[in-house]
Amino acid sequence: IESQWLPFSEAVTGFSQQQWLGRPYLNGQAVDGLPGHSIQAPHDHRITVGEVQFANAELVNQAIEVAAEGFQRWNETPVKMRADALRKLADLLEDNLAELCAICHMEAGKTIQDAIDEVREAVDFCRYYANQAEHHCARPISLSQLQGGQRLWQRQGRGVFVCISPWNFPLAIFLGQVTAALAAGNSVIAKPAEQTSLIASKAAELIYAAGVPGNAFTLLPGDGATVGAPLTRDPRIAGVAFTGSTETAQLINRSLAQRDSDPVPFIAETGGQNAMIVDSTALPEQVIKDAVLSGFASAGQRCSALRILCVQEDIAERIIELLKGAMAEQVVGDPRLHSTDVGPVIDREAQAGLLEHIEKMKSSAHLIAQTPLPADCDQGTFVPPTAFEIRSIDELGREQFGPIIHLLRYKASQLNNLIDQINATGYGLTLGIHSRNERTASQIEARVRVGNCYINRNQIGAAVGVQPFGGQGLSGTGPKAGGPHYLMRYTQLTPVQEMR
Ligand code: NAD
Repeated sequence: IESQWLPFSEAVTGFSQQQWLGRPYLNGQAVDGLPGHSIQAPHDHRITVGEVQFANAELVNQAIEVAAEGFQRWNETPVKMRADALRKLADLLEDNLAELCAICHMEAGKTIQDAIDEVREAVDFCRYYANQAEHHCARPISLSQLQGGQRLWQRQGRGVFVCISPWNFPLAIFLGQVTAALAAGNSVIAKPAEQTSLIASKAAELIYAAGVPGNAFTLLPGDGATVGAPLTRDPRIAGVAFTGSTETAQLINRSLAQRDSDPVPFIAETGGQNAMIVDSTALPEQVIKDAVLSGFASAGQRCSALRILCVQEDIAERIIELLKGAMAEQVVGDPRLHSTDVGPVIDREAQAGLLEHIEKMKSSAHLIAQTPLPADCDQGTFVPPTAFEIRSIDELGREQFGPIIHLLRYKASQLNNLIDQINATGYGLTLGIHSRNERTASQIEARVRVGNCYINRNQIGAAVGVQPFGGQGLSGTGPKAGGPHYLMRYTQLTPVQEMR
């Protein structure tokens, strides 16, 4: 009883002293005995957070057999029962909020606000897809036939769905894919990112506790080459949901195309090269608040994050002055502290890539500002929030997944050309617009090819059921996650009864 009444942050701190175990889960049971490796906290590598055991090739094969066996029974389970299991999962996530937030801090380096948002979004996905399944899959649909007969169809699961997720939303995206696939009646094999297997293992326990049968859900932690690639090559799978980098999506696309079996749906949500366009009618203070939040929150590791801040030249000096001031106030450090704005990046490889980009840009672009790192940051994988001024979008290359903003000045007469350059990156995820001129805002919105536009507000992510999220071009296939069309890709229309 006492622990229930601990203040929330004390409960999280208590859990963060703990160590967790990440393992494959097959047939509702943890699989033990595989070689393990220890996981260190991104903010301080002296802290061991737990141990992870990765799946091997034999387990991948077994998992597909188990999931293929489990499909029919789960698909025939009344939709209401499947939906109730997902609602129960939402309740269990809420009951375990403090522990889940602690794992988010310790394994993924998430700040307090990010960790709470992460769990909240996962809860929302469970309830949203449960409701969507009841709405779309519970009743037969009548589609008239040319010969005058009538056929009844029902939306059902497709078979074994493979869900491959990234580390940057290790619970929300992981469960968003899994709950949509389960709600629709598929059996699921989930492959979480190798960096965040601990939270996925905790989620697996909650999925079974909520009543999902052991052979309807399998968890296979492991790396892309050993676990992800063989899953996507296997002819027995019925679909793949993937969120991660554009490069990995392209690999999976090729792997699916080479299978000697039926074509299957591939739902891909991938990277971005996101811009914000700020014209001279914008409110500078609001611009800076939104740009700093979008560019540096979550250490810039959101797919929606601002990378290119395009400012009309008339107000560029004012924006640069305010940006310098705001960056001087950013606090980088331990993600468990309320005072921290920017936590660590996920691992040494990510840190090295970002620091290399910063060094390269220092020789070719103008450094506007860089937030200093406190001395105690040297034990973790921190990257200082950094802003450069560039002369052309071409200087950027591929997505830099960290706290780096590139400012580009433009003349009012070049606005259409600027939008064309943004479109020419091929990415199409998010775009921020700051303008109090209705015509300019509409002109930009109509011309740009992105999945999500944010006008005069912060350019951050999504709200399940309210603001669905997804990209175009190199940023993804759609349909948007958390929106009314998403579940359909996990289903197929199956004839259930013929009437004459
Ligand atoms: P990643 O592509 O490196 O890895 C994603 C997942 O794919 C991991 O589970 C990984 O193990 C797996 N994988 C790697 N190689 C594979 C292969 N050959 N076959 C099958 N699976 C394989 O991406 P990441 O670094 O984990 O995540 C960051 C990226 O995700 C960024 O590019 C970001 O923009 C993107 N992202 C996009 C969205 C969105 O909604 N559009 C959301 C979050 C993240």
